[in-house]
Amino acid sequence: MQLKPYEPDNLIFIDTEFTSLEPATGQILSLAMIKLTGEELYLELEYDGVVDPWVKRHILPTLTNPKVTVHEACRQIRDFLGPKMPFAVAYVDNYDSLYFVKMFGAGKLPFKWMTIDFSSILFANGINPTKLLATESGAKTFYKSLGIDVTKYQQHYALDDARMIRDVWLAIVKKGKM
Ligand SMILES: [Mg+2]
Repeated sequence: MQLKPYEPDNLIFIDTEFTSLEPATGQILSLAMIKLTGEELYLELEYDGVVDPWVKRHILPTLTNPKVTVHEACRQIRDFLGPKMPFAVAYVDNYDSLYFVKMFGAGKLPFKWMTIDFSSILFANGINPTKLLATESGAKTFYKSLGIDVTKYQQHYALDDARMIRDVWLAIVKKGKM
């Protein structure tokens, strides 16, 4: 597989953790954005509503930073991204994308609404799209082949998830294939 991105320099890598898989009620709890340069933005949001039991167990304990309001988070993201309207790359982008729209409002995203899903790229190249999940069988070999130490990322911590997708992306681009 080769990565020949359209607008290869206008990318950001994103990940979110959120309250629920129910799209009507779900909201972002934490988010990370990383530029190609490696510049990072990580935010945890104020929220005191209901969260899914799985989220309560696995995500809430990892959110230890000071919290910001949605309004403040939107301001910081706009500041971080500037006016370039980058393409946002995520690993399984559907909920990230949806919940960012809920944060900013329809038609008001500070990045292109057409997000780039890395799992679809894997699928289109005949690779099992679950392969990036560190817990999946075959994941270790996959990461090793790219020279990436998968143990350095804390899975479901938005900043580490975004770092991982950026590192995988850059490794494939550098290698010229995977
Ligand atoms: Mg994540």
